[in-house]
Amino acid sequence: MKNAEIIAVGSEMLTPSRVDTNSLWLTDKLNNLGVEVVAKYVIGDDRARLAGTVSQSLMASDFVLISGGLGPTEDDVTRDAVALALGREQNFHAPISDAIEARFKKMNRVMPEINKRQAMVIAGAEILSNDRGTAPGQWIDVAGKIVIILPGPPHELKSMFERECQPRLEKLLPPVAIRTLQLRISGMSESELDQTISPIYKKYENPVTTVLAHNGDMQVHFRARCESVEAAEALLAEVDGQVEPLLGDRIYSRNGDTLEAVIGAKLLAKGQTLVVAESATGGGLAERITNTPGSSAYFVGGFVTYTRKMKTSFLGVPEELLAQYGAVSKETAQAMAEGARKATGADWALSITGNAGPTTDGEEAPVGTIYVALAGPDGTEFGHRVWAANDRLRVRAFAGQMALDMLNRKL
Ligand code: ATP
Repeated sequence: MKNAEIIAVGSEMLTPSRVDTNSLWLTDKLNNLGVEVVAKYVIGDDRARLAGTVSQSLMASDFVLISGGLGPTEDDVTRDAVALALGREQNFHAPISDAIEARFKKMNRVMPEINKRQAMVIAGAEILSNDRGTAPGQWIDVAGKIVIILPGPPHELKSMFERECQPRLEKLLPPVAIRTLQLRISGMSESELDQTISPIYKKYENPVTTVLAHNGDMQVHFRARCESVEAAEALLAEVDGQVEPLLGDRIYSRNGDTLEAVIGAKLLAKGQTLVVAESATGGGLAERITNTPGSSAYFVGGFVTYTRKMKTSFLGVPEELLAQYGAVSKETAQAMAEGARKATGADWALSITGNAGPTTDGEEAPVGTIYVALAGPDGTEFGHRVWAANDRLRVRAFAGQMALDMLNRKL
């Protein structure tokens, strides 16, 4: 399999305020062409350093893609650095200069003299047109290996890659069929998940397996590359056949659907409704549920009862119960869920109360404690966890995931 390296050029991406996103987009495109990205770099506006990185990447890989640093100013170093790395001259290309000049004229402006730098082309390069900006890209064949220079602004890069590079790459590369199986998983930790499935995926170089975890929500992607669609699908079915029995009902979706969308579809199919009563998550659960289009068909609404007073007046949680067990307790979670169900007549009520930290706000339960209750037609169920994470937002996200996972299993 051919491989590639991507170099993002720009000192701004070495600061805390900007991040290189072009390489993520390019990686997806290259993977779909059957090219594996084996290294990525972010290099500041430094000609010598960039030239060194280009030389090194070209020795190690089949394709080197460079994005950014094609502007007209002195600190736009990409053209010069690549010319230096390849030991090639640059020549002024009048039609590019004329096109840039025409672009300026169209905007009723005069092209500054320095923009002529953007018309310098490395000897032997093919010019890649830029339909979104001024700087053209370049495609350079170096004894069978390819260096591709692309502009930095993402919309310019994407358009140029799709119009100019993709067809050239397709001609160079053997046809490849790529299929992905995307499992979404809840109710286990990332390490548990990896431990469970690694004996399977380690046997295979193809498909490539990626495990992604985010606040208790997990995804496993298996990406198969074969000569035909049939072969790729057969390979995925083979792996799926081994993984599925190990994960069982912890797999909640096999097509990328979110947990809240899966729940929505189930409620819709059953003609049932849901209400939420939240304390610790402050409305986050309702927000997740309503991210799904069409959720008004099954989601009646939510109570954000942050204080004891609100829990009592809106959900009917008895003051004595709060005094006896505390606001962060199984009993309060139960009373919240049952109160919300009673107040709205919804089929299901999910409640969350807990202590996201960093302080306990007078409650006895330790930081990281979450109680979840699910009240439904045949009674109330509970969930309880204490997360060690001393990170308010993470504890809140985990709590929401735990509540949704509980409802999904029940449905
Ligand atoms: P121009 O001809 O417009 O000057 P350029 O090729 O010189 O383009 P840069 O000046 O390097 O591009 O970058 C322009 C802007 O594009 C940056 O401010 C940044 O917002 C965005 N950009 C550059 N590189 C990347 C990247 N790797 N990922 C995401 N955004 C990027």
